[in-house]
Amino acid sequence: MDAPVKKAEPDEATSAPATVRAGGDTERVTPMMAQFIEIKTANPGSLLFYRMGDFYELFFEDAELASRTLGIVLTKRGKHQGEDIPMCGVPVERAEEYLHKLIAAGHRVSVCEQTEDPSEAKKRGPKSVVKRDVVRLVTPGTLTEDALLDARRENVLAAVARVRSGEGEDGYVYALAFADISTGSFRVAETDALRLPADLARIEPAELLVADAVYDEPAFKALWRALPAVTPLPKESFDGAGAERRIAGFFQVATLDSFGSFSRAELTAAAAIVAYVERTQLGARPPLSRPQREASTEAMVIDPATRANLEILRTTTGDRAGSLCASVDRTVTSAGARLLSRRLAEPLTDPSRIAARLDAVEHLVDETGLRAALRERLAGAPDLARALSRVALGRSGPRDLAAIGRGLGEGLEIARLIAASPAPAELTQAARVLGSVDPALAATLQAALGDELPLNRRDGGFVRAGYADELDATRAMRDESRRVVAALERRYVEETGVRALKIRHNAVLGYFVEVSQQNADKLREPPFDVIFVHRQTMAGAMRFTSTELAELEAKIASAGERALALEQRIFDELVVAVLAQAEAIRACAEALAVIDVTAGLARLAVDEGHVRPEVDGGLDFRIEGGRHPVVEQALRRDGGPFVANDCELSPPEGAHSGRIWLVTGPNMAGKSTFLRQNALIAILAQAGAFVPAKLAHIGVVDRLFSRVGAADDLARGRSTFMVEMVETAAILNQATERSLVILDEIGRGTATFDGLSIAWASLENLHEVNRCRGLFATHFHELTALSQRLPRLVNATVKVKEWEGEVIFLHEVVPGAADRSYGIQVAKLAGLPPAVVARARAVLTELENADRAAPAQRILDDLPLFAAINRAPAAVPAGHAAKADPVAEAVKTALAGIDPDEMTPREALEALYRLKAAAKGG
Ligand code: ADP
Ligand code: MG
Repeated sequence: MDAPVKKAEPDEATSAPATVRAGGDTERVTPMMAQFIEIKTANPGSLLFYRMGDFYELFFEDAELASRTLGIVLTKRGKHQGEDIPMCGVPVERAEEYLHKLIAAGHRVSVCEQTEDPSEAKKRGPKSVVKRDVVRLVTPGTLTEDALLDARRENVLAAVARVRSGEGEDGYVYALAFADISTGSFRVAETDALRLPADLARIEPAELLVADAVYDEPAFKALWRALPAVTPLPKESFDGAGAERRIAGFFQVATLDSFGSFSRAELTAAAAIVAYVERTQLGARPPLSRPQREASTEAMVIDPATRANLEILRTTTGDRAGSLCASVDRTVTSAGARLLSRRLAEPLTDPSRIAARLDAVEHLVDETGLRAALRERLAGAPDLARALSRVALGRSGPRDLAAIGRGLGEGLEIARLIAASPAPAELTQAARVLGSVDPALAATLQAALGDELPLNRRDGGFVRAGYADELDATRAMRDESRRVVAALERRYVEETGVRALKIRHNAVLGYFVEVSQQNADKLREPPFDVIFVHRQTMAGAMRFTSTELAELEAKIASAGERALALEQRIFDELVVAVLAQAEAIRACAEALAVIDVTAGLARLAVDEGHVRPEVDGGLDFRIEGGRHPVVEQALRRDGGPFVANDCELSPPEGAHSGRIWLVTGPNMAGKSTFLRQNALIAILAQAGAFVPAKLAHIGVVDRLFSRVGAADDLARGRSTFMVEMVETAAILNQATERSLVILDEIGRGTATFDGLSIAWASLENLHEVNRCRGLFATHFHELTALSQRLPRLVNATVKVKEWEGEVIFLHEVVPGAADRSYGIQVAKLAGLPPAVVARARAVLTELENADRAAPAQRILDDLPLFAAINRAPAAVPAGHAAKADPVAEAVKTALAGIDPDEMTPREALEALYRLKAAAKGG
């Protein structure tokens, strides 16, 4: 595509300097610069896209920054205070592409448009500046254009509000409000300082709004750093007193009584969102739903480290491919893909809601024909929600309106398909929503809009012939005139005898007659000189006009203009009709997403042999024939079989807490895979999906923890062992009887005895204090001795076979402990030189002989049982049990005083010694 020719606007640029006040100094600046400076000053903290003709221009520092970020040429234009003004520009028609890059680089952009036609400005005098105003502030959390958004991901704007209350750890209560203005979802939830990281990891805001004071809180610094964009706002934006009024104003209601009840913190957060949306959209109102309140116990709590570690929505490298979500996504619409991500990011904890989702999936597993029919219809359904948002914000084109018409039409068909036979509540409810929109709207949109649509409404030509009589008549006139032009051309050719004579059109001259230089004389001589008036001489050609042609031209132009104006009016009428039903359309979009997710999960269950899990309020965790959904699919591509494994963490006979499995086995045996597959099965089950197993019975998991020892976190400048300990501490402090804890090789990041001691003490704590269900993989074989003392600790090992000095991995998890670690065999597999392998064997034999005294047994015999010294009082609720433990308390206090980001390596080491001392209880 050619870049459009840059139109200079000499009037504005060369206007004589006038004296204005800017920045407190009296300076000589051009009127245009004065306008620029005024607008720039009114919109701090953003790059200003200043519209000049076909370009958005940037000036001064904005220009320097944009030219660096976008790789576009930096030029200069005029002078300001004696210095050249740096400038760069982006063509309007490619603005989205550049906006995308700037937003992705963390910038905000104020889009300043010309709000009048330049000819209007000229009427005020030759030196007048075209009126301009900022029409929109583009920030990462307020995008609506498809080109700026990922179709399969939500784009969430969140706000965290903090309100003093005397409650909570730090005397504050916190609330989060989060909205996606591209789809209209809007929710609020209470949270607290400890939970905030988990909630933010769940919501994944593209932009987070916080009050200045909260922003500056040292305790949150690391949290903010981990987010893509945080926007601190003055405290007025988080004004609790005016919150209710602000929200009511946005929704154009007198009071919020019918919205349900909200806490003050929730209202404050929701009002901050509303205020920011109003500020960035400058009055345009996206079709946000009324804020939906979420209970804090509604979703399984999964902290950021666990999410990253389990690769729920993306892998540790940030890719969607290879994540849990990608491996189970069989949706056919982007709204469905977004909803599936959301469901996986926040599995439910209420067994009856989970059952409702599973009922719906099961129905579509069984009803093969209905499933196929629904998926075929859905595949043709456009992204209703995002189209609607653009319509509401005045950013839509004909394609958005057509998408809404098509979406509603498909919705009606889908509702009919579902209603044809009895179905579970989730599906009938969705069908009811789809069936309740006014069928006339879909019909009108489909009748009004053509099949081939331009991107912009300004281009015209989108209204279908036959929809509006007046438009049809005007178009006929325009087209007829075009035919007359063709006839005129034929006549001129005949009359002049110049066969190469052509009637052409361009934007500058309008219609003109063109002939080659050789033929030009003919037209300038009698009798033709009275007909043709010379207009322009080109290299090799000459252009003329004629009275007839000019008259025709006027007719064509006015018919064309009238047709375009009529189309614009029809467009506006359609917008009004759509917005009158915005709420119903948004509900339809949601219903379509629910059906897509349900049908997609049903398809997945059929394709992958998943079963319906049984989820209840007990403490069971029984998986038979479980598989890892991602590894299984990857292995299948490589042609290898996946070995299914059982996992039984349900409370043993007579016990009231679940079991912990201690999983040993050599490297590469499949320990990590086994651990994760069980965590993923819990997530899938509670998200309302069938699971990769033969049988699954899960008592609802309230919190899920997953940690891998010695995770490399060098990027954040923390010692890996420190990270491991901080995270382990969080688990020991937070896990409840309902939780599922997956610890993979904890204690690896330090010396053997340190690591073993920490793993040992942590395992005892989990068993005795947290009493959670858990899987604990370890390379410390000594730990297997603990099962003699801890009744709910079960030893399990991943089987390997030794054959002629080689190990063969069977990936089979069986009761018992690994007899040894096979480290040397694995090293040999990895290609260590034979001499080194032989030498290692010899050293190992020596070490094993010296180790006959079995240190683990000695510890068991000599140390009083952990439970005996640290027994938690029975009255303490499970979630807070760890607080009663003086050692944990001491470790926690020591940890609280540490800011790993601020430490030198030496300080970190010293802190570790202090922690160890605290862990020993000294
Ligand atoms: P570990 O944690 O014991 O070192 P991993 O869980 O990382 O072992 O597994 C090592 C490799 O073994 C995996 O990459 C996978 O390809 C394979 N694997 C693991 N579990 C299974 C299984 N159940 N069936 C088949 N292959 C498996
Ligand atoms: Mg492993």
